[in-house]
Amino acid sequence: MPINVLDQEIVSRIAAGEVVERPASVVKELVENSLDAGVSQISIEVRGGGVSLIRVMDNGSGISSGEAELAFDRYATSKIGSLDDLESILSLGFRGEALPSIAAVAEVDLVTCAAGESVGTYLGLRDGVVDRESQGRSQGTTVTVRNLFRKVPARLKFLKSRATENSHIANIVTRYALAFPEVKFTLFIDGRATVTTPGSGQLIDGVIAVYGSEVAQNMLEIEEGRWGEGGMTASPPLVTGMVGSPAISRSSRDYLSLFVNRRWINSRLLAWAVEEAYHGIIRQGKHPVAIINIALSPKEVDINIHPTKTEVKFQNEHAVFSAVQKAVRQALIKLTPVPSIEEVATAYETPSALKQRFQPLVERAGGLAPSPPVAPQTLVVALPALRILGQLSSSYIIAEGPDGLYLIDQHAAHERILFERIGEQRSRQEIEVQGLLEPATFEVSPQQEEVLRSHCKDLAEFGFSIEPFGERTFLVRAVPALLSGKDWAGMVRELSDSVAGEGDWVEKIAISIACHSAVKAGQVLTDDEMRELVRQLEQAAIPHTCPHGRPTMIHLGLGQLRKEFGRR
Ligand code: ADP
Ligand code: MG
Repeated sequence: MPINVLDQEIVSRIAAGEVVERPASVVKELVENSLDAGVSQISIEVRGGGVSLIRVMDNGSGISSGEAELAFDRYATSKIGSLDDLESILSLGFRGEALPSIAAVAEVDLVTCAAGESVGTYLGLRDGVVDRESQGRSQGTTVTVRNLFRKVPARLKFLKSRATENSHIANIVTRYALAFPEVKFTLFIDGRATVTTPGSGQLIDGVIAVYGSEVAQNMLEIEEGRWGEGGMTASPPLVTGMVGSPAISRSSRDYLSLFVNRRWINSRLLAWAVEEAYHGIIRQGKHPVAIINIALSPKEVDINIHPTKTEVKFQNEHAVFSAVQKAVRQALIKLTPVPSIEEVATAYETPSALKQRFQPLVERAGGLAPSPPVAPQTLVVALPALRILGQLSSSYIIAEGPDGLYLIDQHAAHERILFERIGEQRSRQEIEVQGLLEPATFEVSPQQEEVLRSHCKDLAEFGFSIEPFGERTFLVRAVPALLSGKDWAGMVRELSDSVAGEGDWVEKIAISIACHSAVKAGQVLTDDEMRELVRQLEQAAIPHTCPHGRPTMIHLGLGQLRKEFGRR
């Protein structure tokens, strides 16, 4: 075939393919346009998985009657005007591609009315033909998209089930509802109200509306601050948002929302920064609930990477990573609460009792009963000074604090203390090592051998001197001092078995050493030993959970005691 310049229709169709991948992309672009138009309300309606109908209605600025057609021209935008503007984008849109792309793959109706206009404008776009009329409408814009991809059967074929497309749509709306708590969102899927936010401006209200009050009660606000290299610094980025306690961690990553200058983005790097901050307090395979807003100078971030505008590039990736990690970590230290007897009791409440407890909050989410925003539940910041009362069942330390009784799991608590100490010593390269009087050999299985061979160096960082010594045998000359006299060979074998070398080995080794060298349950402790253990726990950064994420203690408050005994 000779070389042809493609005609306009094919060009539009190809370009549209990049912006409009599936129905949720249409919803995303239309919602972004509404948000850019300074709305306080957005109502979204979809039918048939978004293929039959998508309608987005807002009360924003509207498009003036003279510009309505222009909005559907490719690269027509009111958001940037010059090359310089491209470097300082704070709007969600800027490429001028969404409306023409959508019109290239669907039937589109626009009804819009700008401020100061007495009557609105209707445009109907079908197969490149534009129909225009005047139509009454209050200020704002409604875009209706019908029969998406009818002319692009290949796309239609690749769409997933209706339920899947609906869930992508709900996901998009949920994220933007969290990013813009001052906007009242409603999403109707096949006539059913799926998302309804009050638009109160409080993030916590958005969280209640989309995740429910139980999650909301376990969220804590990130202290607003510019988390630079050495903690708070005067320079950007600014990190705000909320993080969830380990108690509400999820088995999927979908509950982590990242926003850069209020744009929802995908970033494996930042997701990792958040997960890193949870290391040691969340169980393996679990993921946190968190909403992270990063505000930084638009010059520091490039959003013009991909037509869908969900990938970004930071000028100083490292600074953003560390700011996010520090902000989350700082909030988490406050968040990891001592589980109280009350919480344990809650677990046994009947669902209806629970529902009753949360009823007022649920009502607020629906916007029925406006009331002042609730602060998330008070969370214990640090451990108070404790007085030892005794040991229970050779496993638990009973202690008294100013606010009631503490039951401390001696093994879990000691694990936490040692885990933090090992981490510190390793980072300062000051691990205490115990040389063996005579080098020892030990045998492993072929599978263990593979894993162990590739991790001798990691183990060395923790004080092991270990090297291959013939077939399936290793020679050990030294071990971490903490493990001297303990079953270190068992520990190394166990470690080599754990998910065949996957995951963060450095952390695994630290946890494993902590676990194998900590006092065991069933071990009688003297008063002095218990006092010392509790003293060290008081100084731990995260005293309330062991490195596996389990609680180290249970707290029975005085108020709770009085309630249990029926006193006021
Ligand atoms: P972009 O958002 O990148 O500018 P779009 O194709 O999405 O490009 O929209 C083109 C233009 O139409 C926008 O720049 C804006 O001026 C106008 N527009 C689109 N949707 C709305 C809306 N809901 N309210 C007000 N103006 C809108
Ligand atoms: Mg747009």
